[in-house]
Amino acid sequence: MPTPPRQQIVRSAEEQSAEIIDIMMACIPERLDILPSEWAEEKRILPSEYTQRPGRVTYDNSPYLRDIVNCFSPLSPVREIAVMKPAQIGYTQMVLETVLGYIIDVFPRPVLYISADKELTEANMQTRIDAMIASSDLSDKIMPTTMKKASRRTGDTMSRKEFRGGFISALGAKNANKFRQFGFPVVLADEVDTFEQNLGGQGSTTELIRSRTDAFSKTRKIAWGGTPLIHAESNIESLFLQGDQSYYFVKCPHCGHEQRLLFGTPDDTFGLKFERTEKGELIPDTVYYLCEKGCKISEDFKYDMLIGGRWIATVPKRSRRFRSFSISALYSNFLSWEEIVQKFLQCKGRKEKLQVFVNNVLGETWKEEIKAIDRKAAQRNSLRRYLPATVPNRLAIEDGSGRIVILTLAVDVNGQYNKKEGWLAVDLRGHCRNGQTYSIAKGEIHGITEPGGGAWLALKEIAEREYPSDDGMRYRVNFVAVDAGFKDYAVHWFTGILPMSRAVRGKSENVKNDKVLTVTHTTKGDIWWIDTVYYKNLIASNCMISWQGPPAPMPPLFMNFPDAKHIGGFEDAAFMAQYGIECAGKGFDNDYFKLFGAEAPIIQKDPLDEGDPGKVIGWRKRYSRAPTHFWDCLVYGYAARDIYLEILARTAFPKIKNLDTSLLMRNLSDFIDENGVQWG
Ligand SMILES: [Zn+2]
Repeated sequence: MPTPPRQQIVRSAEEQSAEIIDIMMACIPERLDILPSEWAEEKRILPSEYTQRPGRVTYDNSPYLRDIVNCFSPLSPVREIAVMKPAQIGYTQMVLETVLGYIIDVFPRPVLYISADKELTEANMQTRIDAMIASSDLSDKIMPTTMKKASRRTGDTMSRKEFRGGFISALGAKNANKFRQFGFPVVLADEVDTFEQNLGGQGSTTELIRSRTDAFSKTRKIAWGGTPLIHAESNIESLFLQGDQSYYFVKCPHCGHEQRLLFGTPDDTFGLKFERTEKGELIPDTVYYLCEKGCKISEDFKYDMLIGGRWIATVPKRSRRFRSFSISALYSNFLSWEEIVQKFLQCKGRKEKLQVFVNNVLGETWKEEIKAIDRKAAQRNSLRRYLPATVPNRLAIEDGSGRIVILTLAVDVNGQYNKKEGWLAVDLRGHCRNGQTYSIAKGEIHGITEPGGGAWLALKEIAEREYPSDDGMRYRVNFVAVDAGFKDYAVHWFTGILPMSRAVRGKSENVKNDKVLTVTHTTKGDIWWIDTVYYKNLIASNCMISWQGPPAPMPPLFMNFPDAKHIGGFEDAAFMAQYGIECAGKGFDNDYFKLFGAEAPIIQKDPLDEGDPGKVIGWRKRYSRAPTHFWDCLVYGYAARDIYLEILARTAFPKIKNLDTSLLMRNLSDFIDENGVQWG
């Protein structure tokens, strides 16, 4: 008998999809599709001892926390979040407590809960978390202490709670290295700015904690939360920079313009505005928010603006697996704008109080005021052991700065009027994604500085050369910035023969301490104007950033200079001679570092305010003959990076004005990482 043809089941794509969904649903525990925020709104009651608004939980009072907490749904692709936040924005209550309750009730797994110290973490377990468990009707799910009497293990203690399918282990950050043998699929780390950068010499606390989840790379969930402290040293700021850097945007109720709410300064054309009496006291009911388009927004609109708001990632190309959020108390429904202004006025002139305001209310890092630079400290901080005249790409990656993304060459023209001979100070530098810089070489090219002169031809050689890196790559200079303050006709001649170069001039009066990137067209050529006060302030604070060294990752903006003592010294001449160029200078020696002391900040204080820390309005030479050529080169090196990115941005996105070029830098770095492009 012939075999009957096998019956073929033909199904449509829809039917197949339905079948797959069915199989998936069978594998997923009951109700896994409920989002953490929905779970909380259904199950959680806030007890009156822990909130201004007791009763059933609603995220309508803090709608910006809804997306954050929902990253903890097992169906969300997000694996890691970092939340840089002010105090009392509702994070503990509406994110941490909800996540814990959701895990106990819906999606049981082991959780590591870690905070500043053991005592604080355990106290939270005993008070807030116990109250959440009781008020959400989850007590039955926690293994009671009576069960443990038979065994030595405990089901419910200050540092550990067990439930079916999982447990919560509470830990102080100082003990983070003691738990190396345990892995956790979920980590909730709070107050991360109190964590040590380098824990007992074993590396950064946050890295040690993250490594606890390595075994769960496909399913892990990590939440980093913290109120930021000091700029560039802050853990939460560094974690925020690793993610997609989202801010909460709301629409103006009058014109519909979507914007971030920012505190602003009196000069800003947006932000919180208010009136004061002659004595400086706040006049009640004068506080309002000034929309970027000029509308006056009263606080009555805040609740609805927040409901209609949304998180916008400023580095959207970043992995969808790491989302990071930054928010201020201007968004809080529990603190009015008037109260915020009152708090601000109370700290006027008192630096310590102002720092607390910036951290705890604005949720921002504190930037130390600019002082005269301590030259010796700058030298100590920033000299590193690497070879001059080589791009230290491998070192930068090992330092945690990421690869060197672009190279700049900055040039300052020197000499006397009506003399053909002069010299060019040159500075070659590598820039990393978060503003870290690695000086590579410097030198003085002496010769004819008239158009077509030998000094310029030598400079062109240097600008067009390839430079080897310590990991076997070849780099080229991306951009050359030449100060056109002296012999501008010669500078324009040079920028005319070298495509990626521009004439630049510094402006130090009537500037707003922001990059000035205006271009003026002259008959001789274009001039890019930069704000030298902004760049000098930036350098002054960058060179004082302290870093304990690896394995702690290098802070953003850190400056590195090659210390050639380990190879028996270094002469700039030796480097330039390879290219047949005569050059003077002795490398990055003590004389070089005198540049940091060449100028001092001019600080303006409010004469009516005794405690006013003042602000920097300019820089002046310490003495008339102070050598500032290489100090100027540092300024033009940073400006070169910004002008280059600005030119790229204007070419790529001609319609977007005021694009944040630091974001472009990070996108560029991501692109190179992803595509393995050799750059330069
Ligand atoms: Zn408006």
